[in-house]
Amino acid sequence: MQKRVRFFQSVNFKIALTFILILVISIEIIGAYFISNLENTTITSFYNDMNQRTSALASNVGTVLNNSESGENFDDLSSEVQQVINNMNMTDIIEVRVINAESTILATNETSGTSLVGQKNDYAVLNDFDVLNEQQVDENNERVYINVYPIQSNAGNLGAVYIRSNVESQYAEISKTAFIFFSASLIAAVISIIVALWVSRSITQPIEEMRLHAMRVANGDYSGRVQVYGKDELSQLGESFNQLSERIEETQDSMEAERNRLDSVLTHMTDGVIATDRRGTVITINETALSLLGITSEEAVGESILTLLNIQEDYSLRRLLEETKDLLLDRSESDRRENQLILKVNFSMLRRESGFISGLVAVIHDVTEQERTEQERREFVSNVSHELRTPLTSMRSYIEALSEGAWQDEEVAPQFLKVTLEETDRMIRMINDLLDLSRMDVGTTTTLQREFVNFTELVNFVLDRFDMMVSSQEKEYVIRREFTQRNLWVEIDTDKMIQVIDNIMNNAIKYSPDGGTITVRLIETHNNIIFSVSDQGLGIPRKDLGRVFDRFYRVDKARARAQGGTGLGLAISREVVKAHGGSIWAESQENRGSTFYIALPYEPYEEDWWE
Ligand code: ADP
Repeated sequence: MQKRVRFFQSVNFKIALTFILILVISIEIIGAYFISNLENTTITSFYNDMNQRTSALASNVGTVLNNSESGENFDDLSSEVQQVINNMNMTDIIEVRVINAESTILATNETSGTSLVGQKNDYAVLNDFDVLNEQQVDENNERVYINVYPIQSNAGNLGAVYIRSNVESQYAEISKTAFIFFSASLIAAVISIIVALWVSRSITQPIEEMRLHAMRVANGDYSGRVQVYGKDELSQLGESFNQLSERIEETQDSMEAERNRLDSVLTHMTDGVIATDRRGTVITINETALSLLGITSEEAVGESILTLLNIQEDYSLRRLLEETKDLLLDRSESDRRENQLILKVNFSMLRRESGFISGLVAVIHDVTEQERTEQERREFVSNVSHELRTPLTSMRSYIEALSEGAWQDEEVAPQFLKVTLEETDRMIRMINDLLDLSRMDVGTTTTLQREFVNFTELVNFVLDRFDMMVSSQEKEYVIRREFTQRNLWVEIDTDKMIQVIDNIMNNAIKYSPDGGTITVRLIETHNNIIFSVSDQGLGIPRKDLGRVFDRFYRVDKARARAQGGTGLGLAISREVVKAHGGSIWAESQENRGSTFYIALPYEPYEEDWWE
């Protein structure tokens, strides 16, 4: 951009050159006119002078000849004429010659040339006795002026005078004047070159400054200002230029601020935003969109939005614009819950006022949680219907058999009725569980009846009940207690917590077909109580470990159902523990046993505080 202007291409040079050309042409014209006029006047006046002097000489010599007595001797006459010549102004005159009627030379101007006197004149022009005024070139190649004038009297021709004068000196004089003129012109030209350069520089200097400033502005530097020198048009232009760059700077600043605002809005948006041009090439993408799609800005910008969302096989840009407004993308890496990612993309077109589509904006929302909840809800409804149908179907078949006559059979009838009762009980249990869950779902904390209880005591109380049941069980098992010495006081809903502990203990017994030791531990940490139940039973396969707390989830459906389980126990336990601000989890090794943990928030109190 910063291109240097060569001197010969500059406005500076052009203005100076114009000045000089005008000056030179003027000098040329004036000079030619002046010199030709000078030559004309000088030469004409010289001719006139010579003509006059010749006619004066002729007249003077005529007087002498007229006054001479007839028969006067030639020598006397000659010397009288010589006298006239001697009295004459000889400036510029080279030769004077006077002849008588017989063409004999009477006198000349040459003092040494008296030898010619008395001789016959050899100049043809003189012998013609005619008036002659003529410029000629002599034997030395010099210009001379020849005047011949006849001396006349009443009687006729008395002779003639001849003057040869030096015109060359006049020309030399003119040349000298012309030389002075031209050398003066040359000096004037040099001075005017300097003046012209100076003047044009003073004009072009502000222009040059404006040019440099304009280039800086074009490169985005608005800080400089053009110097304003005076009050002329150029200064006004400079002032306007400064105002212009101020305006541009302001506009640029406000655009920059606007862009920053937009950027920060985009950056802090919780939704992902992608903007493309009309060909679908990504121009802008915000941080959220980048992290949702798991790419970097460099990878995204310039890429097609179809490729970016990996929908190029199913959609063309046209179809996307014309038909699709919303799109659900499954970007899950695997079936695992933590790797699931479901995105909802909402497309809208960017249209100019003319209707021209200038681009596309895609807003991306993470709807994984929403979709998951929706999915769970669907599964739950299907599970509930399935779970209720099984006991109902079995009850129906027993009742049908009874009504068809089995009621009379004393052996079968009580058995059938027992099964029906058991199934009804199971259904009631399940519905109670479901009601519990639904209550927990509606409002978690409000449903809790909290009270301060000694948790150690509470656990002991529940375990004592289980100890009592040991004898009634077919299998043999031992319950071992490993408790902290301290009494742990916590604010909990006793009934609900007993339900949770019951459930975990029941599970430990249910899923340990060969009995074994069930270890119940109670420890305290800095701000938690950790309650755990370990059994030596079936254990839970690794892949199911995370899901046993889901509603209706059972590892081995047949066995669980046979045990009378509803598949809701752990789900309720999780909700209860969550409502208490705690957490529940399980660790297990298949066929070796499982450990269920419950952590409850706990603030240790000084024991004597309660005493
Ligand atoms: P259920 O009424 O079927 O016992 P739960 O919600 O209490 O329902 O338990 C869900 C599933 O977790 C059970 O069906 C069982 O497969 C598994 N489970 C729970 N506790 C244990 C345990 N201690 N050992 C092995 N499996 C267990």
